[in-house]
Amino acid sequence: MKFLCDHMLGTLARWLRILGFDTAYPSTAEDGELVSLAGREGRILLTRDRDLGNRRDTQALYISSDVLDEQVEQVLRELRLTLQEPMSRCPVCNGALVEVSKEEVSGKVPDGVYEHQREFWRCPECGKYYWQGSHWDRMMRKIEEYEAFTQR
Ligand SMILES: [Zn+2]
Repeated sequence: MKFLCDHMLGTLARWLRILGFDTAYPSTAEDGELVSLAGREGRILLTRDRDLGNRRDTQALYISSDVLDEQVEQVLRELRLTLQEPMSRCPVCNGALVEVSKEEVSGKVPDGVYEHQREFWRCPECGKYYWQGSHWDRMMRKIEEYEAFTQR
């Protein structure tokens, strides 16, 4: 299942990517463009705009809360999702992360990180590198919390 978040839902988009869902976050705020983009790419439009969420010409879900945890819960529950591959996408740009060798990141990540980490990933779209740093544990705990909202 693929998503498209409207401009009010940037943080939700980031988290859906972290949870492993292909999630677009286009710069446009224009309803017609969002609808046509969602249709063209087969994405479900997630929106804070009630009218847009109720349109019949697109698959859309009106997100009722401003609170991130409640937004994630609504999406996972109402669409009856399961988590397939958490941490497999770039939270920044939605690129599918690729595992890379330690040699490849030499000189491209901070020295301390290079010394202490063994596994690295790279986003082929924006070039950003990822590793299991301190934020990783926090993210994993959050992912576990969100997993409670899924169909198991
Ligand atoms: Zn990226």
